[in-house]
Amino acid sequence: MSDYSFFGAVEKSFDKAAQFTTWDPGILEQIKQCNAVYRMHFPVKIGDKIEVIKAYRVQHSHHKLPCKGGIRFALSVNLDEVMALAALMTYKCAIVNVPFAGAKGGITIDPKKYTPYELEKITRRYTSELIKKNFIGPGIDVPAPDYGTGEREMAWIVDTYTSMRPGEIDGLGCVTGKPVTQGGVRGRREATGLGVFFGLREVLSMHEVMDKLGLPVGVEGKRVVVQGLGNVGYHTAKFFQEHGAKIVGLSEYEGAIYNMDGLDIEKVIEHRKNKGSLLNFPGGTNFAKNTDALEMECDILIPAALENVINGQNAPNVKAKIIGEAANGPLTPEADEIFAKRGILVVPDMYLNAGGVTVSYFEWLKNLSHVRYGRMEKRFTENLNTHILGSIEDLTGKRVDGKEKELILHGPEEVDLVRSGLEETMITATREIMDVWKKNPQIPDMRTAAYVVAINKVGTSYAELGIFP
Ligand code: GLU
Repeated sequence: MSDYSFFGAVEKSFDKAAQFTTWDPGILEQIKQCNAVYRMHFPVKIGDKIEVIKAYRVQHSHHKLPCKGGIRFALSVNLDEVMALAALMTYKCAIVNVPFAGAKGGITIDPKKYTPYELEKITRRYTSELIKKNFIGPGIDVPAPDYGTGEREMAWIVDTYTSMRPGEIDGLGCVTGKPVTQGGVRGRREATGLGVFFGLREVLSMHEVMDKLGLPVGVEGKRVVVQGLGNVGYHTAKFFQEHGAKIVGLSEYEGAIYNMDGLDIEKVIEHRKNKGSLLNFPGGTNFAKNTDALEMECDILIPAALENVINGQNAPNVKAKIIGEAANGPLTPEADEIFAKRGILVVPDMYLNAGGVTVSYFEWLKNLSHVRYGRMEKRFTENLNTHILGSIEDLTGKRVDGKEKELILHGPEEVDLVRSGLEETMITATREIMDVWKKNPQIPDMRTAAYVVAINKVGTSYAELGIFP
C-alpha cells in the first residue's frame, strides 16, 4: 500500500519540513529520534489459560515533562505504529502550545475478544509494569485514551496508580481522559471532535484559501463525509451538523451509507446501536464497499479512524476539496503528493486532532490545582453581571429578558471554560500554520507548514536547554 512504514512516513514529513528551518543537523536528529522505547510482555490469566500480552510505551521526546499521549488497544498495535504516534504527539503538543513532550502506548489485543473483567486485569497489569519502570506519573508520563480505550480504562489506570503510590498528592494527574467523578474534566469526551470542528471552521473562514479551492467560505451547507464513527468521528460529525453542514456520507468497518440531502447523525448512531450496523439505515443508501465513501462527491472528507486509509491507489479517486485528518496518519506520503498536485487541501492530523491533548492539559492542570474550573469565579461573575445589567437597565429605562438576559448574566461553568480554551487554541494554531505557509510559498502543503512550526518550537526548546555535557 505504501513504500513507507508509519514511522518512516513521519520521518519523511519531518525531513521535508526540516529544509525550511535553520536548525543544526544534530538538533534536528535529536528531535526526530524516539528517546525511550519500552516493550513488554506480561502474563494474564484469561479463563483457565495464561495469555502472554505484548505491550509498548514509547517516549518520543523529553524536551518538556511530563510526556503525554494516549494508549491504544488494537490487534494492529506494533512498535513502528507506537513510535510514529509518539512522534506525532511531540509535534502536536508543540503546535498547540501544550507544554508536554510526546509519548504513546499500546497493547496488541482485540479488546472485543475480552470481557470487561479481563480487560481490567490487562489494563491494571500494564499500569503496574509502567510504574515498575517509572514510565508513568503526573510529572513523568501521562497516558490518555486512544483507539480502543476510553474513560473506563483511564479509571482503572488512575486507581492502580494511586493504590500503588499512596499519599502522592498529585496522583490523579497520572492519566487524563478520566470520568468526571474520578478527576476528569467536563468537555474532554468531545474535545478531539470539537477541536477538529474548530480547526476546520477556521480554515473555512479564510477567504484566500477558499477562493483557491473554489468553495464559498463558512461551514453552512458544506457536504461532509466522515470515515469512522468512534468518539472522534461521531463528535466531529455532530458539530458539523449542528453548524449547518450536511453529513452526506458515513463509513464504518461493517459498511458505509450516503444521502446527498444529509444523514441525521444521531439517528444513524441509534440505528447502528439497534441493528449492529450502519447498513440499511432508512434515510440512506448502502455503498457496495465501505471504502467507496472515501471517493464520493463532497466538499470535506474527514478520515477519523486509523492510519493509511488513503494511499497511492485511492487518492486519485478522492473528490473532496478538503481533507481534514481527524485520525492520526490516515494518508500515506504517496497520497499526500497526489493531493498536493491536485490542489486538494490536506489539513494535517498533528494539529487538527490536537483538541484531545489540549483538553487533557486542562484536566492535568485541574488535577494539580485540586479545584474545579469555574468554582471560584462563577458566582462572583454572575453577581457582578447582575449588578452591571441592573445599572444599564436603570440608566436606559429598558429591560432585558429571557435568553438574552441568561446569556449576559451566566457565569462560566467548567465546560464553558474548557471549550473556550480549546476554541482559542485551535484558532491560534490554524492561523500560525497558515501564516508560516503564506510567508514561505516554497512550502508545498499545510502538513509541511505545520511541521515547520513544530520543529521550530521543539528546536527552540532543545537549543535553550542546551545539550547535557
Ligand atoms: N490519543 C489522543 C491523541 O492522539 C489524546 C492524547 C492525550 O490526551 O494525551 O492525541
